[in-house]
Amino acid sequence: MERETMCIQAGYTPQNGESRMIPIIQSTTFKYDTSEDMGKLFDLEAEGYFYTRLQNPTNDMVAAKICALEGGTAGMLTSSGQAANFFSVFNIATCGDHVVCASTIYGGTFNLFNVTMRKMGIDFTFVDPDCSDEELKNAFKPNTKAVFGETIANPALVVFDIERFANAAHAHGVPLIVDNTFATPINCRPIEWGADIVTHSTTKYMDGHDATVGGAIIDGGKFDWMAHADKFPGLTTPDDSYHGITYAEKFGLGGAFITKCTAQLMRDFGSIQAPMNAYFLNLGLESLAVRMPRHCENAQKVAEFLQGHEKVAWVTYPGLPGDKYYERAKKYMPNGTCGVISFGLKGGRAAAEAFMKKLKVAMIATHVADAHTCILHPANSTHRQLTDEELIAGGVGPDLIRLSVGIENVKDIIADLEQALASIQ
Ligand SMILES: *Cc1c(COP(=O)(O)O)cnc(C)c1O
Repeated sequence: MERETMCIQAGYTPQNGESRMIPIIQSTTFKYDTSEDMGKLFDLEAEGYFYTRLQNPTNDMVAAKICALEGGTAGMLTSSGQAANFFSVFNIATCGDHVVCASTIYGGTFNLFNVTMRKMGIDFTFVDPDCSDEELKNAFKPNTKAVFGETIANPALVVFDIERFANAAHAHGVPLIVDNTFATPINCRPIEWGADIVTHSTTKYMDGHDATVGGAIIDGGKFDWMAHADKFPGLTTPDDSYHGITYAEKFGLGGAFITKCTAQLMRDFGSIQAPMNAYFLNLGLESLAVRMPRHCENAQKVAEFLQGHEKVAWVTYPGLPGDKYYERAKKYMPNGTCGVISFGLKGGRAAAEAFMKKLKVAMIATHVADAHTCILHPANSTHRQLTDEELIAGGVGPDLIRLSVGIENVKDIIADLEQALASIQ
């Protein structure tokens, strides 16, 4: 199947007389004929559902669609993108371990790693995604368990060199985790470039309509945990909480990561997506392949307009010829990148505030990557807990404005920006 078809059809095939749409199984629990039947589920000896804190059929159908789109072997939904990124790392790195991470990642993920997960005893080394080979090599430690980056960094719009980081990760016997939220599998499939685990904030383009917060984790099924058994005891040694099963042995390359993540982390943390939200997410997924090209087309025109405007100091958009990441974007995303643009005004921080007050079509919202055009000044909102040094290291300077171009008629978006720009001194 092509991706356009998967968006509509993957994950659920109704049988004779069954509902055409993915059904919402709005139930906390599931009934069995005998205790033995249920016991097999608790032992991970049989597949099935017993409690929606761990797994729900609606969620699994939607996860299977995303898994197909990404070209993975197994997938799961989480309650948010934050939960997806937390689980993806915590599933293989615990107290005393270390992770190499691109410094330009989303502020929320940066805080999760650099503050909260450090408190859990996990160490992170943040590297410039364009660092030298020497610097990258030096970032690894004997206790490194994973490498993490974003296909297109939110909001720095740095295009991640997936192949290079995958090779570095594999040379050190660890997997590469890629947050593919901004590109979506319509524009880039990180697994094809060597990534092992892919995560999403489905809150963004996948849902696409500002309706539901959610996340997803997809396993590419290629990383050989057993070949690096000493590094990943959680996958390669018996789990006492399930009568001593060893995930990598019992569920193989394709299933071990997601099964462990569900059986241990979802069981204990319960960061499950509500089945109703999974249903809404599926509605968004059905049109994803139609919406993404429109986002990219609109963003390209808006970026060109901004670049030619006298009051605009700079524009970053990987689709603009001359952009630092133009060539790399062409390699990884030949059909377009995303709808998000960042730019700065000649008047800096103060001009940004004045300009944003005048906008009518583009609305100020702590959100990006959906049908509605929205705008944000990160230094004053999402990233305000970061210092100026951290902002610059993360590629989000104090003057940066993040504009998420929606799928309205681009003439209305440009006219709105034009009148707001005209109003500032
Ligand atoms: C929004 C976002 C997240 C966090 O996702 P939530 O669904 O808001 O928890 C993680 N990564 C990226 C790239 C994001 O844009």
